[in-house]
Amino acid sequence: MRSPCAFDTGTYRVIQLSFHGAAGTVTGSKYLLTVNGSKLLIDCGMFQGPSRFRQLNWDDPPFDPSELDAVVLTHTHIDHIGYLPRLVRHGFSGPVYATAPTADMARVSLLDAAHIQEEDADYRNRKRLSRHKKALPLFTKEDAEEALGLMKPVPYDKFIEVTDEISFRMHVVGHVLGAASVLCRLRDNGNRKDVLFSGDVGRYGNPLTKNPEPPPECDYLVCESTYGGRMHEPEDPRAVFIDLINKTAEEKSVLLIPAFAVSRTQQITYLLKELIRHEMVPEIEIHIDSPMAISATEIYCKYASFHKVDLEKLGGPGCVLEGKNVHLCRKRKDSKLLNKLKGPAVIMSSSGMLTGGRIMHHLMNRLKDPTTTIALAGFMAEGTLGRRLAEGATEVRIHKQTFEVKAKVVTMHGLSGHADFYELLHWLEPLKKEPTKVFLTHGEESQSLAMARHFQRERDWETYIPELHETVELN
Ligand SMILES: [Zn+2]
Repeated sequence: MRSPCAFDTGTYRVIQLSFHGAAGTVTGSKYLLTVNGSKLLIDCGMFQGPSRFRQLNWDDPPFDPSELDAVVLTHTHIDHIGYLPRLVRHGFSGPVYATAPTADMARVSLLDAAHIQEEDADYRNRKRLSRHKKALPLFTKEDAEEALGLMKPVPYDKFIEVTDEISFRMHVVGHVLGAASVLCRLRDNGNRKDVLFSGDVGRYGNPLTKNPEPPPECDYLVCESTYGGRMHEPEDPRAVFIDLINKTAEEKSVLLIPAFAVSRTQQITYLLKELIRHEMVPEIEIHIDSPMAISATEIYCKYASFHKVDLEKLGGPGCVLEGKNVHLCRKRKDSKLLNKLKGPAVIMSSSGMLTGGRIMHHLMNRLKDPTTTIALAGFMAEGTLGRRLAEGATEVRIHKQTFEVKAKVVTMHGLSGHADFYELLHWLEPLKKEPTKVFLTHGEESQSLAMARHFQRERDWETYIPELHETVELN
């Protein structure tokens, strides 16, 4: 897979692309484009997962942030925007371009991430868990606010000039509200190169999020490979929910759904409201117990026409994600009141993989109840409580207490926001021109390799899997 196009960082070249994140891993997305003196950073993500990756967030940036002309964000997930406050702290003060929904959602995501960082540092200091003198947050709410002040919303499908040498255009790519692929147009002495950054590619047939649009032609392609060698299990989430909600209503029980605050909660709320509207399931009370999910839902409603369906045109006045039978629990006391709630009802709360948040107190309260069903939505990472439950654990530890698992646990597979192997190939199918080179990023090695093998064998595309901090020349 290796080709001789790699150059050491720092060697002067006319057009250079450096991979400062999402190389050999799925997090920390950061791609630096340099055209003579012009510099553009595509995505500014935080490294997540194992500590060897998280530790990278504390390193000094491998380039001078004050020299960047701008940052472009593909979408709002923390592994794509979570390093922005530190970039600003290290001297970046230029514009941060993003679609309007991404810019709005970034406020919710970054302030929440800052809150978690501050709480975590505080906890470590109180419990003396830090190896250092004093545990510090990666960034504070003030840092996040400073970064958010640089946001410049831009529309889809319109070239934005960054410098004489660099412009870019956003393209709909599904995945989450406001997500984009970014086509960068680079000009240097009459030499023009188009580089397409896929961002995270969404799925086809998602009930709420738009399908990815065909990608524009490009000279170079930087393509994600999260599911480069895997397929999602075929499962219609509607069918699963019809079964689950009807049982919940019949048994007058509680359906507890751990769900990510952004995108997953809104997808499920929309699905449930649609099933109720079409009388496939009885009208059931839905409680959304997560302040972040509620803020994200407001943004989903604000951009009602950015989805596959216009949310305002469905089911009467107002947004279909809010209103009748959807109850929003913003305050902690409302959340606690749900402990006494009798079914039939749905409680949706985060975090999605049961790593913290309000869902924990619902679990402590309902794991012992055999009438409760816990519906795990999507992939559960190793080491999480979600994974333990998905694997059928009969007892689990939460906050140093042991809880017997008497509730029923089901896993749903049809709600992933990531294109799988076939969907990625389907997305790229319309490309007529063979890219000079395809760079495969944002994937574990096995996934990127599987995809590289396919491109080489089936399409005869030259592919390359870059290493972290590697710089290549585009000529
Ligand atoms: Zn994403």
